Order: sequence, then structure tokens, then C-alpha cells
Amino acid sequence: MFFSVKELEIKKARFEAAFSPGEIDFSGDRLEQVTPLEAEGSAELLPHTLGEIRIQGHLHVRMRCECDRCLEAAEFPIEGNFDLFYRPELREGYEEEVAIDEGESEIAFYAGGGIELKDVLREHVLLSMPMQRTCREDCHGICPICGQNRNLVNCGCEPKPVDDRWAALKNLAK
Ligand SMILES: [Zn+2]
Ligand SMILES: [Zn+2]
Repeated sequence: MFFSVKELEIKKARFEAAFSPGEIDFSGDRLEQVTPLEAEGSAELLPHTLGEIRIQGHLHVRMRCECDRCLEAAEFPIEGNFDLFYRPELREGYEEEVAIDEGESEIAFYAGGGIELKDVLREHVLLSMPMQRTCREDCHGICPICGQNRNLVNCGCEPKPVDDRWAALKNLAK
């Protein structure tokens, strides 16, 4: 679904859409979409601006990625509201000035006369993923010694205690 500035000039657009896994490309983000991504909301051209588009709505989806600690699958439900602002890409030099002056890190830019809904949703999903991507809060991760998944086996390996201060003294004594 593409929101063109020309159409938005006439009226606000409402959307209600579902995207099956694969329709939105997450392959470059090491993420996999598990359930259909359902979204609803609206897109509008803000009056008294130079073509600023506001897209707001609600989405939910379930995403899967590799657990940061054990590398098994970790799933995350993403559900929430979004309210995003897009400005037309501006001429060179001007863009930077505006961004810095107003300190609006939330503002994104669009080119080509409009915005593709899939891009908006993809971006929101990426922003909504947690920083810590673990399969569960107390994931024990992979044993650094034998390489087994410590959630599945209690390998009993004990890391050798290394005390750098003593090692440093020994080196001095040599
Ligand atoms: Zn894990
Ligand atoms: Zn081990």
C-alpha cells in the first residue's frame, strides 16, 4: 500500500492490512516474522507544512530471532501504537540544518512522492525489538568451555579461575 502525497492532499487515508510472513523483508535484519503482521491506522498530510506526512496506527506481530546467549530461537510479540512523521527529502545543505535546529530525531524522510506502508511497519518493528534478545530471562547460554547449551545440559564445566593480578606479579618475578 503506497500513500502518495497527491492522494493525501485530497484526503486522509485509512488502512487496515495484514502482511503474511515474507511479504515484508526482514532478511537483512536477522529476524523472521512468525505470524501475519496486522496493522490499522491512518496517513495524513499535515497542513501548513512542506509536505509532512503523519502515519499513526496500531500493529501486532510475532517475531523470531536468535537468542543472544544460546543461539536457539527466541520469539517476541510486538504490539503497540506508532505515530511517525515523515518529511520530503530536502535539498542538500538544508536538511542537516533543520534536523539539528529542531532536535527531532524521530523525524524520517521520504523520497519519490510518498511512502510505502510496508517500509513504515518494518521500521516500527525494528525499533520495537528489545535490546536484549534472549529466549528467556534466565537463559544460561552456551558453555564457553565445551560449547553445549547450558539450558539443556548441566555440563559441569568450571571455568579456570584467572586472577590477573597474580599473573602480573609472576611475570615481574621472572
Ligand atoms: Zn537462550
Ligand atoms: Zn561445558
